[in-house]
Amino acid sequence: MSRHSPETPLRHLTEEPYYQPVGNELAVFMAAWQRRLPVMLKGPTGCGKTRFLEHMAWRLKRPLVTVACHEDLTSSDLVGRFLIEGDETIWQDGPLTRAVREGAICYLDEIVEARTDTTVVIHPLTDHRRHLPIDKLGTEISAHPDFLLVISYNPGYQTVLKDLKPSTKQRFVGMNFSYPPAELEQSIVARESGLAVEQAGKLVQAAAKARNLKDQGLQEVTSTRALIYAATLMAAGLAPMEAVAAAIISPQTDDPELGAALEEIFQSFL
Ligand code: ADP
Repeated sequence: MSRHSPETPLRHLTEEPYYQPVGNELAVFMAAWQRRLPVMLKGPTGCGKTRFLEHMAWRLKRPLVTVACHEDLTSSDLVGRFLIEGDETIWQDGPLTRAVREGAICYLDEIVEARTDTTVVIHPLTDHRRHLPIDKLGTEISAHPDFLLVISYNPGYQTVLKDLKPSTKQRFVGMNFSYPPAELEQSIVARESGLAVEQAGKLVQAAAKARNLKDQGLQEVTSTRALIYAATLMAAGLAPMEAVAAAIISPQTDDPELGAALEEIFQSFL
């Protein structure tokens, strides 16, 4: 039986991913890395968690394997499976196994979305054992010294039915992320979109106000990512409110009243 792993994307980041530190996140992550403690990046969608990790992978010169978890993702998708090729049976490593073998940083984005059997396979990787059981091969492998497990977790999404078990969460060093403070967010939005800083500032100010609508029934508030999209459309020549409608309001709510409330807020700043 041969083994191959051609499909798992393992990224070597050769150019610095732009990341603007907000607090002590670099120091916390470096300390966790030095002791190879698994890390949980906690925070709403679009606030910089993925970019932060890309930046850290670049700094540490480690390859990065990212898995966007979804409700059909099983432990086999992470660990690997047998494939039939002609009359040969081939074992194919999943992304987690590949990261464990090769000493990559493995990022399980929104792990809570995945099937619960996925959390079972990561447990032995999160403590002193640093082992990955591969049931289908009847074996377990020891993690490469440079392997690091990182998960992301959006506390706003969780329901009683879908949440990480406290015992799982406690296996990780937790790092809280939120939207960057206004001044930083302004420079991030301007830099990422190419829009003038002053215009970017208006979007950021409006977003700060719009984020208060969370209590009015919005499931998701305006993310830094959404602001960057709106700014990118504006930089491409779209009128500001058209850009806001397309990049912020439409994706964020289907409710006409909430949409109108958002529109009013952005209109008053732009
Ligand atoms: P998340 O993983 O939290 O959903 P991302 O990391 O994809 O969000 O962030 C969305 C976008 O916001 C990024 O592509 C990046 O352009 C920008 N961004 C957010 N925070 C920062 C930051 N601190 N420094 C640089 N860019 C940031």
